[in-house]
Amino acid sequence: MGETFDLVIRASRVITGGAETACDIGVSGGRIAVIGARGALAGPAGPAGLLDIEDDAVVLPGLVDSHVHVCEPGNTEWEGFASATRAAAAGGITTLADMPLDSVPATVSTRALDIKRRAARGQCAVDVGFWGGVIPGNAGELAPMHEAGVVGFKCFLADSGSDDFPPVGSRQLTAALRVLRRLDTPLLVHAESAEAAAAITHHGGRGYADYLAAHPRGLENLAIAQVIEAARATGGQAHIVHLSSSDALPMIASARREGVRLTAETCPHYLALTAEEIADGATAAKCSPPIREAANRELLWAGLRDKILDLVVSDHSPCTATMKELSTGDFGVAWGGISSLQLSLPVVWTEARRRGFSLADVARWMAERPARLAGLAGKGRIAPGCDADFCLLAPDESFAVDAGRLHHRHPVTPYDGRTLTGVVRGTLLRGRPVDLERPRGRLLTRAAG
Ligand SMILES: [Zn+2]
Repeated sequence: MGETFDLVIRASRVITGGAETACDIGVSGGRIAVIGARGALAGPAGPAGLLDIEDDAVVLPGLVDSHVHVCEPGNTEWEGFASATRAAAAGGITTLADMPLDSVPATVSTRALDIKRRAARGQCAVDVGFWGGVIPGNAGELAPMHEAGVVGFKCFLADSGSDDFPPVGSRQLTAALRVLRRLDTPLLVHAESAEAAAAITHHGGRGYADYLAAHPRGLENLAIAQVIEAARATGGQAHIVHLSSSDALPMIASARREGVRLTAETCPHYLALTAEEIADGATAAKCSPPIREAANRELLWAGLRDKILDLVVSDHSPCTATMKELSTGDFGVAWGGISSLQLSLPVVWTEARRRGFSLADVARWMAERPARLAGLAGKGRIAPGCDADFCLLAPDESFAVDAGRLHHRHPVTPYDGRTLTGVVRGTLLRGRPVDLERPRGRLLTRAAG
């Protein structure tokens, strides 16, 4: 091979093609040009042209987190593009897709999408795509938002917690899936049943058991059944976000066997935390659907092993410490959402390795499959033609989480003080190390990848 590259990455452990291998990666113009045998490729002369990775580190594709609530504009005091993308980069994530709610305006029109893009521009340390929202009354905006480059759409079947992002009913769900099928883009669904939830009262307070009892698995099971039938009837592509109820796994598997276009994700917190260990008043762990029992957690891991669950994404849903009611510990009043963007990889890896999974599994769940969901063809894999986005991970090294030292805007996370395995040593975006002070992330569109 006589060709020279802008950069050659030489490593004994690279996750590519679903396995771990020793190789050289030749990078040209910000993309992966070729993957060659270790020692076979030549970079430009001088130390800058060759990145020789230590043997105790693994080169993963830059992770893709398709479920992040950035909250800017409008609620930038909760998070924001600068802090969220810095946290992402520090956590090995090189692409994130921002959810359409928790910002003002919510991303439910092309006008709102423009406003969000303007807010993000120039601030992002990693690449960012945007989901569009489906709410009652915005059917006419779906095709224009798709044209404008949203990576897909999201709706709620239950109260979202935001007045400007109301849930859709079953007729609207079916109608949206029909439109999105024509556009060949997915509909992400927050699947909890509004009807069933309306029949349950939660009186608030510090007790986690009471909060959990008010959010039974049935709320998810019922809503997921509804999504399955809507996807079956329309031929549309549906995706279940943040699955917590393991009861729903057999339903999802059977629908898929029957040809329903359905995928599902779960999140680090459902895979790492358990209801039994959440102390009363520990509202940092409040989310919806809730974290369930240890037995449920093991069944979610089985769902990953059986490939019923396709991806693991953070559902980073930040807020201020005040909103989390850390002083009162009241699960009724506290904001529902977990902050974990920067910690997703070590949280998942710590639990995954314990159960015999490999880093190739982690890369599939946290890079390849989320990129595919968001239609980002050039992301999530170490393969010729893909962007040269990498996460350098020391998989055997441990650290203690100090919430105050994370790049998240607020030092609120249920992982504070925990010891996790897997230290992110560096992140490369299009062939260059991410510099947190000089953001050069791009705003991505589904079409352009
Ligand atoms: Zn979410």
